[in-house]
Amino acid sequence: MNSGTLYILATPIGNLEDMTFRAVRILREVDLIAAEDTRHTRKLLTHFGISKPLTSYFDHNKTLKGTVILEKLKNGFSVALVSDAGTPCISDPGYQLVRDAVADGVPVVPIPGACAAVAALSVSGLPTDAFVFEGFLPNRSGKRREKLALLKDEKRLLIFYEAPTRLMATLGDIAEIVGDRDVVVAREITKLYEELLRGPVSEILETLRERQLKGEIVLLVAPSAEAPPVRENLVTELLQRYLFSDGISVKDAVRKVAEETGVPKGKVYDQALQLKADS
Ligand code: SAM
Repeated sequence: MNSGTLYILATPIGNLEDMTFRAVRILREVDLIAAEDTRHTRKLLTHFGISKPLTSYFDHNKTLKGTVILEKLKNGFSVALVSDAGTPCISDPGYQLVRDAVADGVPVVPIPGACAAVAALSVSGLPTDAFVFEGFLPNRSGKRREKLALLKDEKRLLIFYEAPTRLMATLGDIAEIVGDRDVVVAREITKLYEELLRGPVSEILETLRERQLKGEIVLLVAPSAEAPPVRENLVTELLQRYLFSDGISVKDAVRKVAEETGVPKGKVYDQALQLKADS
């Protein structure tokens, strides 16, 4: 018997118009829908006039339920996995089910759609060429600060999911540990009170001090500034000019070259000594 297909199906993160035509069709076609919260998903199904058997699949029953769902798939039934909002497996249950389905040769098909992290990223105005999705930071301050310390020198943009009650504490930790970077607070994306706050973390902290934020939040942190690219031989060229053509002292030449290239003084000094020795 051929296996059924497991569909990993994204649902809207606030605005029902973000449901895709394909998602609606697949939900109509599958034999079973596995949902993080069946009551929540029932409302979505009702909105789209879909009537299908639902079963729960959430963090605390995922091991047991995963086995049941996998059995159904292996018996030829097709199943759509949905979470409460957005894309399953992204800070939501689903990963183990996908892993086990893949291991058992069950076809797994994505039905893409909304994802809060990607939606926030797309409007952030921060460099999007490389990014790191970290999901939720630890609740406890100590662990959160440890995590931020590890991410401090990350050269890629950071994306976090954050609860409104913890936002100020997290922004405070970012200011202290990561530095006064540009951040974006993307709140209630696609919903009535959608809001984007952009600026250095110190300014955002100031803005929010008087406010009690509610709703769902994605927090983005700009990458740490890269050292400006330095032309391979630029340090040598400048040193040669200052030391031998302009005849200025080693100390002054090193200071000038370090300032002009951004290369640490110690490194420039070593090169200056080498040049002097070779000359
Ligand atoms: N799987 C989901 C996805 O694809 O985005 C994320 C699920 S995670 C349990 C829920 C978190 O995502 C929220 O606490 C919030 O940080 C973020 N989130 C979800 N919907 C959002 C929205 N409309 N606006 C801003 N953040 C949102």
